[in-house]
Parts: sequence; C-alpha cells; structure tokens
Amino acid sequence: MKVAVFGVEGKVGALLVPALEVVGHQVVDGRSDGLEGCEVAVDFTHPDAVVSNVERCLAAGVPVVIGTTGFDTEAVHARAREAGVPCFYAPNFALGAVLMMRFAEEAAKTFPRAEIVELHNEAKRDAPSGTAKATAARMGTDPAIHSVRLPGLVAHQEVVFGGQGETLTIRHDTTSRDAFVPGVLRAVERVRELPAGLTIGLEALI
Ligand code: NAP
Repeated sequence: MKVAVFGVEGKVGALLVPALEVVGHQVVDGRSDGLEGCEVAVDFTHPDAVVSNVERCLAAGVPVVIGTTGFDTEAVHARAREAGVPCFYAPNFALGAVLMMRFAEEAAKTFPRAEIVELHNEAKRDAPSGTAKATAARMGTDPAIHSVRLPGLVAHQEVVFGGQGETLTIRHDTTSRDAFVPGVLRAVERVRELPAGLTIGLEALI
C-alpha cells in the first residue's frame, strides 16, 4: 500500500518508515509529499498538529492510524463519521500495555482503591498520558494519576492497588520504541475494514 506518514523524522516515525517499507509498503511524507494515491495515513506528530493532519486525510478520504496522544477523540470521531472514513487510535500500541489495562480492569473489581503512576521521557508534552487515562476509564474507580517526566525514561506505567494489609502492583515498561511497531503495522493493515468514525484501542484489532 502507499502509506503517508506524518512525523517521519520523529522518534517513533523514524522507526515506522523502515518497518513499513520492509513489509512492502511505499511510504511518503504526509507533510511534504501530500496524500495523492495514499490508501492509509499514519500520524505520530504532536497534539497541536494531529487534528489538522487528520482533517486533511478525511477531506481526501484517506483512513488514518493515529498514535499521537492528547487530542479530542470525540471531535475526531464525529468528523470521521461525518466524512464516512474509518480511523483508528491507540493510546498505546505496545501489546504488553494492552494486557496491563486488561489486568488493571480485572484487579479493580477486587481492589477499588488504586492510583496510577505514569512515567515518560521529558519530551512528552501531554499529561496525564493517554494510556493512564484509558486505564483509569477501564477501571471505573476514578484513580488518581501521577505523571513523571524525566530524561532516561521511555514509557512506563504502574497501577498500584491497596487492600487491607496488602498491595498489588501491575507494571509495564516500554524499554524501546520498537515496541510500538507491530501494533502500528497491524492497524495499517486493518484500518480500512473498520466502521466510519474513530475506533479506539488495540484490543479492537487483536
Ligand atoms: P517527536 O520525536 O517529537 O516527533 C514528532 C514529529 O512530528 C517531529 O519530527 C515533528 O517535526 C513532527 N511534526 C510536528 N507537526 C507536524 C505536522 N503538522 N505534520 C507533520 N509532522 C509534524 O515525538 P514522538 O516521540 O515520535 O511522539 C509523537 C507522538 O506520538 C506524541 O504525541 C507521543 O505522545 C505519541 N506516542 C504515542 C505512542 C502510542 O503507542 N500511541 C507511542 C509513542 C509516542 P518538527 O519538529 O519538524 O515539527
């Protein structure tokens, strides 16, 4: 497929371009090359840039896989549905993070008192992280979220449950941004099969 990537020079985008090419996709730079002939677009940019990139794709009828976090998902869902174009967003494309959210949802049924600590590289602009917000929503117990931004970190999250005389900690560590690649490749392959609007979460594709 011909795939437009927004954010080709970013930390994630720079990994995605060769990964998409190695499995046979033709990659163009969404910002400079335009969308002519593209079947799918991918956005790993910035919370302030993603919505206008998606708008351009919707106007061209190109489905978008969104990795950028910190944007208004409901507004994008409404716009994509109106345009009749399927889009996909995962707050975290790492498989282990999907399992962490699933396990946290399960544990919250037994331990309603919990707090989330999410730790990311200092370059991450939005806080709390999309993963922390999605985890909290799935737990349904309104846990406090603590955000840490420091050099040396990639993407990490702990969900700490407190009970009588015991705690339970569920932790996921992304040690390399390579962790996001398989999930994005899967979403690129599958996004065109999804209904018009914004489908959220890697669980919809596994
Ligand atoms: P990054 O290294 O800062 O890269 C962002 C890139 O986007 C930069 O090269 C920037 O280029 C480019 N950019 C900015 N505005 C643009 C526009 N309008 N059109 C095209 N490109 C544009 O960031 P990153 O670490 O790769 O992360 C990018 C986003 O993905 C962040 O929101 C991050 O939170 C998110 N993320 C999500 C996941 C997930 O699993 N969902 C995983 C990792 C990261 P210039 O500097 O030249 O403007």
